[in-house]
Amino acid sequence: MSEAKKVENVIVVGGGPAGYTAALYTARANLEPLVFEGFQWGGQLQNTTDVENYPGYPEGIMGPEMMVQFRAQAERFGTRFVTDDVDRVELSDDGGVHRVFLGDEEHLAKTVILAMGAEPRRLGVPGELELSGCGVSTCGVCDGAFFKGKKVIVIGGGDSAMEDAIFVSKYASELTIVNRRDEFRASKIMQERAREQGNIEFKTPFVPEEFVAAEGAPKLDHVRLRNAETGETEDFATEGAFVAIGHIPRSEVVVDLVDTDEDGYILTKSGSTETNLPGVFAVGDVVDRTYRQAVTAAGTGCMGALDAEWYLRDTPPSPEAHWLPEGEPEATAPKLA
Ligand code: NAP
Repeated sequence: MSEAKKVENVIVVGGGPAGYTAALYTARANLEPLVFEGFQWGGQLQNTTDVENYPGYPEGIMGPEMMVQFRAQAERFGTRFVTDDVDRVELSDDGGVHRVFLGDEEHLAKTVILAMGAEPRRLGVPGELELSGCGVSTCGVCDGAFFKGKKVIVIGGGDSAMEDAIFVSKYASELTIVNRRDEFRASKIMQERAREQGNIEFKTPFVPEEFVAAEGAPKLDHVRLRNAETGETEDFATEGAFVAIGHIPRSEVVVDLVDTDEDGYILTKSGSTETNLPGVFAVGDVVDRTYRQAVTAAGTGCMGALDAEWYLRDTPPSPEAHWLPEGEPEATAPKLA
């Protein structure tokens, strides 16, 4: 007889603020979550220096340290972690067992909380990654305050670029929005708001070719800009550069399985973390194209955990639910606090 496999109450996919918060709440509900936190766990906060806008840290905290604390808090209540990237998932559409794969290794679960996050779209030019945190940033709201009285640029022409520019311009002395076309993708109202700021200028059609450090210091000194029409280049002195050219939701493992929008953001029911599949919930930046803050990700992680807990409570084990291969009936009963 083949050995019956354990069916987890909850598998969380993702190890950022949303995933760890979902783990904390489900662990405290005695659901013994299993978290696939990814090889590079910690999400976008691993690439952030000071976090000054997360409530409860009046002195601020370094992003990676914050993620260590999130993780430790979830672990304290019994969360188990797999520090690897999920290769594939199979999600049931009829309330049955869901399957998460690491290579050929299969893990079964009654509920899955998708918390894979998003990553900022990068330009892919020299110096961009090397000077990340040393003048180059992908989050105006997070890092704008570090550029008080400084000359900075924001790259991009969408609503994110306008929003970042408006926020950062409250700190910067001069701010230039650099866009690759003369037209802007941003909504008219956001463009107008940016133009209304006294210290924002626009430079088009230019694309950054390289972020260049100051001599002998890992600190942004200037950006080499190329005119997209003439091909001519110029060195543009700036102490800060915010790359705001969009985000890419990390939904690749589920994009053909759950409903997403045209950009790959997972769709959830209004006011809930429920996806179109029973027992499958989605939280954090893989859902959120608007707010994208650590605190909002953590908030939806909590919502996802409660939604999963309530789903398990209200979905009694039954043959229809086929949560477990024959032979291990005791494991079918969700353990609730
Ligand atoms: P977006 O609308 O896709 O705009 C991306 C911008 O970056 C475009 O100007 C694009 O130029 C430019 N870009 C892309 N790749 C580039 C590259 N390799 N080099 C140079 N420039 C590049 O992204 P978003 O601004 O993040 O907005 C995403 C969605 O969120 C939108 O629906 C937006 O309305 C929404 N949003 C709304 C608000 C708000 O209402 N407050 C705030 C933020 C975001 P092209 O135009 O030439 O492609």
